[in-house]
Formats: sequence, C-alpha cells, structure tokens
Amino acid sequence: MFSKRNKNGFYGEFGGSFIPEMLRDNINELEEKYNIYQKDIEFQKIYRKILKNYVGRPTPLFFCKTYSKRYNAKIYLKREDLNHTGSHKINNAIGQSLLAKKLGKKKIIAETGAGQHGIAVATTCSLMNLECMIFMGEIDMHRQYSNVLIMKSLGAKVIPVYSGSKTLKDAVNESIRYWINNPESYYLIGSTVGPHPYPMIVSDLQSIISEEIKIQLKKKGIIYPNYIISCIGGGSNAAGSFYHYLDNKKVKLLAVEAAGLGIHTKKTAATIFCGSKGILHGSMTFVLQNQDGQVLPTYSISPGLDYPGIGPMHADLFMKKRVKFLHSTDNEALQAGFELMKLEGIIPALESAHALSALKKIFFKKNEIVIITLSGRGDKDINVYNQFMNKNFLNHEPIT
Ligand SMILES: *Cc1c(COP(=O)(O)O)cnc(C)c1O
Repeated sequence: MFSKRNKNGFYGEFGGSFIPEMLRDNINELEEKYNIYQKDIEFQKIYRKILKNYVGRPTPLFFCKTYSKRYNAKIYLKREDLNHTGSHKINNAIGQSLLAKKLGKKKIIAETGAGQHGIAVATTCSLMNLECMIFMGEIDMHRQYSNVLIMKSLGAKVIPVYSGSKTLKDAVNESIRYWINNPESYYLIGSTVGPHPYPMIVSDLQSIISEEIKIQLKKKGIIYPNYIISCIGGGSNAAGSFYHYLDNKKVKLLAVEAAGLGIHTKKTAATIFCGSKGILHGSMTFVLQNQDGQVLPTYSISPGLDYPGIGPMHADLFMKKRVKFLHSTDNEALQAGFELMKLEGIIPALESAHALSALKKIFFKKNEIVIITLSGRGDKDINVYNQFMNKNFLNHEPIT
C-alpha cells in the first residue's frame, strides 16, 4: 500500500515522534492502548453508534446537477458539512474522546485554528463528561469569534494564546507546553499531524469518509471514482477521503493547499509548494521555514488551512507522486464558494471552498466521476464572504 507507515510511525522518510522525554510515557501508553482498542469490537461498535445517532452519519454523497453541467463531469459532494457541529472534525473528536475515557483521563486539552476542532472537542467532552480546555491563537479568536462563544457555551475553557503569530501553530505549541506540565491530561490533536501515533489515529478515525464514499458509489453502480479532491491543512479530511483508495492508482487524488495571496508572496500557507523538510510539532515533514529552520508566519483567509506544516503521510504521498497537489488563492476560494452558493444552494466553509476551486484548474473528460469533500459548512465564514461581496460590488466586478 502507498504510504504504509512502519512501526515507529514513519511514512517513508516522514513522521516519527520527536518529542521531549517527559512525554515519552504518555505517547507510548497512547499507542499501546490505541492498538488494542482499534481492534476491539466493542469499542468500534460504540464509536460507530455515536457516529450514526449523534453525528448523523453516513453523510450524503450529493450529485450536483448544475455543477456537473458547467464542468462537464459527474460531480458529487461528500457532505461532511452536514455532520453535527458542521465539519469532519467530529469524527476524530469522538474516537479520541472515547479513547481518552479508556485511558482513564478526566481532562482533555486541544488546540484550534478555525474553531471547528475546538467545537468538536467541546461537544464530545460535554457528551462524555470530560473537562475541556481549548488553546486558541488570539488572532483566530477574533476571526472566528462566534466559534469561541459556542465552545464557551458548551462548557469549555478557551485559553487565548498571545505568543508568536497568535494563530494555530502557536496554539499547538502552547498545548504541548501545557501537556508537558500536566501529563495526566489527554491531548486531543485535531489533524493528521504531531508525533506518532497521532497521524495514524486521526487518519484511521477519518477513514470513515472514504469507507462511506465506496459504499455510496457502489449503490450507484460505480466501482471507483476518477477523482477525489480535498482541501488540505494538516491533512485529516484529505486522509479520510483518500484512505480506502490509496491502493487504486486509477483514482486520481488531489489535495488543494491554501496559497493565501499567492505562492510567490510571503503571505501563503502552501506548505508543499513553499516549504522544505523539517521537524514541526514532533514530526518530520514539510515545513514553511527560513534557511535557519525558523518556522515562518503563514497566511490564508481560511483559518483551518493557516498552518505551516502538513501531515507526514501527505508529505510521503507527495514525494511518491500518489497525491497531486494544487494551490488556490483567497480570491479563487472565495469565488468558488460563491459559485457553490449560487448553483447548488450550499454555503461551504472557506477551507472547503479551496477544494471546490480545483474544478477550474482541471480539464475533465466527459462523464468522469469527481468526488469533492465538502469538509465543513460556511456559517462561520459568513462575515468574510460578505466583505468580499461588498468589495466586488463596489468594483463592479462579477462574482463568478
Ligand atoms: C480544520 C478544517 C480543515 C483543515 O484540516 P484538515 O486536517 O486538513 O482536514 C478543512 N476544512 C474544515 C471545515 C476544517 O474545519
């Protein structure tokens, strides 16, 4: 299989667990217990039951008629936006919260960028009676203030992070710092990043996405799709969407990074295009860094993609040319977002809008089957969409 990890959590030359010694016992225990519960039928049954009755899975695979006509292909959206709490993040949060319970943990810590992971964790903590502490960059708190209010309402403690660029990477740093001092807490990472075993755990838990795609396509008489397209920040919705198709080379896998203002500017978050090999948050991967290895500030209009790293599995899939990487700017994503609103009546998260923008960059053969993962809903981004709309009306520019 492509990008098989070895027992030390290396995907090819990427991954591993580069962590302070103080966390070694924690990480070892997590790996050991995960390996047990991943195969435990009772555990899996409870996980699946919550996904069904609480999250609302399976999420629909929606055929977009108008879209398909416009792009001359058969376009389906995997509707992760319809999950409880509005994104794919809950799939992972539920699984890891259950695991935390099994480890006897009482307190969960997590970082969040867009707030979607924070909300998912605050939600599962409330559901499972766990104490919840969310670290969030101060800038992100401003950008996604309604999400802060949701987390607080659910009973989570939201800790503002004032260090560095005051965004996601700093929130991760702060979570790790807190975890070192409070190893009795469970650190619930929200993407396929961090030290082994996290990338493995998160991609396993998100693999439900492609498991369902496979079943849903089969019901329509389709054996496999020609394309699967996801946006990529840390890589969890992409990992979940690609997972069960990694071995089938006939399925083209596309990941769309956030270019911000463009990959030739300093205001970007396109890690594969602008980054180089390095260690970030406990893992060997691609990192946006300067020549001295200092992590660079990132920029994207979508806070969920505004991260200077990428999961090690994806770094490996890129090197092995199994996944093709694209990049889209803020403007391309915003336009793609408006297009979906206008044509299909769905408001996508700005992150997901990056995946949609790939449609304009690929030339499809007639009747090719294209799956796009709509990772989240765009309610949280409505202010940003509105500002863009007003600006474009003032300039008398059409939206699409
Ligand atoms: C967090 C998030 C992302 C990016 O994270 P991945 O781990 O790359 O999936 C994408 N879309 C939405 C809606 C998110 O909340």
